[in-house]
Amino acid sequence: MNMQSPSAIPVNSALLIVDLQVDFIRGGTLAVPGGEQIIPVVERLVHLPFNFKLASKDWHPLQHVSFATTHQQEPGSYISLKNEVQQLWPVHCIQNTKGAEFAPGWDYKQIDHIFYKGMDPHIDSYSAFFDNQHTKSTGLGDFLEAHKIKHLFIAGLTTDYCVKYSALDAMKFGFQTYVISDACRGVNVHPGDTAKAYQVIQQTGVKIITSGELITLI
Ligand SMILES: [Zn+2]
Repeated sequence: MNMQSPSAIPVNSALLIVDLQVDFIRGGTLAVPGGEQIIPVVERLVHLPFNFKLASKDWHPLQHVSFATTHQQEPGSYISLKNEVQQLWPVHCIQNTKGAEFAPGWDYKQIDHIFYKGMDPHIDSYSAFFDNQHTKSTGLGDFLEAHKIKHLFIAGLTTDYCVKYSALDAMKFGFQTYVISDACRGVNVHPGDTAKAYQVIQQTGVKIITSGELITLI
């Protein structure tokens, strides 16, 4: 058997594509600036030899707590929810609707398993691991542990919310966590939010790499 090359993708690695859905790209109800630009990058990533290729989907019921319309408010406003601040968004990613489908243009049939989040009408969920109150798990952490995954590579939308919180939770599980910067975009509700998100996750030990750097590891 060949020795594992030191420059290969680490063994026991998984790829996680976060919320690459119709509503988050151009033409969607909560379009992320440049969100669709990551699609060709993700297309390359899902053909790399990870042990598992996983995805999360934002998957909301009607009148979800995160929707401004649920509270007769404007998107971008905030409410207080169980001593936490809940930011309000346009209606997005309603279960079983077009907006919640994977964005087109990449081979999502490569995805081995999808983890759904945001189904509780009363709690939002940015992380692909837990809801924002950390009361319910999506099963992603257990899945990765059961399959002895050590390295988690994260791409998707958005850098300053769901990618960020997924990366923070992944570190808490103890996975060496990488965010693939050119395969992510931030929504930047406040200018500089994406840069701040990178700072916060790097401080916890998350490594920021580009898809080019990753591909040279193959
Ligand atoms: Zn959502």
